Amino acid sequence: MKKLAVIGDPINHSLSPRMHQAAIQALKISATYEALHIPQGQISLIKKYQKEFIGFNVTIPHKKSVMKYVDQLTPAAKEIGAVNTLYLKNKKWIGDNTDAPGFLLSLKKNFPNQKIKGTYAVVFGAGGSAYAVVYGLLKSGISKIYLVNRTKSNAMALIKKMGKLGKKVKYLDPQNDLVLQFALVASKWVINTTSLGMGKLKKLSPLAKGIKLYPQHCVMDLIYNPAQTIFLKQAQKAGAQTGNGLWMLVFQGALAFQKFLNRRPNVQRMFRAIQK
Ligand code: NDP
Repeated sequence: MKKLAVIGDPINHSLSPRMHQAAIQALKISATYEALHIPQGQISLIKKYQKEFIGFNVTIPHKKSVMKYVDQLTPAAKEIGAVNTLYLKNKKWIGDNTDAPGFLLSLKKNFPNQKIKGTYAVVFGAGGSAYAVVYGLLKSGISKIYLVNRTKSNAMALIKKMGKLGKKVKYLDPQNDLVLQFALVASKWVINTTSLGMGKLKKLSPLAKGIKLYPQHCVMDLIYNPAQTIFLKQAQKAGAQTGNGLWMLVFQGALAFQKFLNRRPNVQRMFRAIQK
């Protein structure tokens, strides 16, 4: 029996077990998938689990700290600076990052026939998920990214991490409405990677009142709970195409599943398993 798990703190709320168990069942694979609570600051506990398990999905707050327990990093994990998938290959622990390709596949799913190459994007946020989003867009040949974040130093650290490609990313102050509006007019993609819109911040949006979106915008929110954030409602009102973060969650999981078990999971089954 192959053992798989998602590790994080907190972990009770995670949708990963439901999603992966559905894929395991559909393929009739002899494997289990569970949620393991590893408290913040105690990632060394993973060493014990590595003796038993063959793969892990890694979530907040361990995506960086887990890198110490890896034999080899994939280029994506190295360049993004975070691991969300840890799996055994030829007795070596490989640290990978499937958030960026998962994000790109979700864009294809939510906005079919829309190209990234040569376009402009406004990305709100410079936290962990923004690294994968910006990396994915840059690798897909985007021409320019306007990165809007409350804390400038966090945005500048992200831009630096992107190396040469970071030249295509320009920091924008969220308080500067006029410049932000110009950036939006020039952009096709508008993406929220901040936590504005969920949990305690549910009633907030990264888009200040008075700033306009347009019907030609493709607007994505990485948040999937709630399914319709205030931000997505603003976008719908403007006539833009929209998508939430549910498909990104499914695709990053499906890509990890393939690494764990060498089998291609049924993404529709995974999606249905977590849809409310
Ligand atoms: P982080 O905590 O790493 O980053 C949070 C971001 O939100 C930062 O840019 C932060 O800005 C900003 N922010 C937080 N509070 C405020 C506020 N009050 N006002 C303005 N800005 C604020 O989180 P992650 O990047 O890991 O996750 C962000 C969101 O993306 C979450 O909602 C998460 O659920 C979702 N997500 C979805 C995924 C999916 O598969 N669909 C995958 C990963 C994440 P600052 O730098 O100034 O602190």
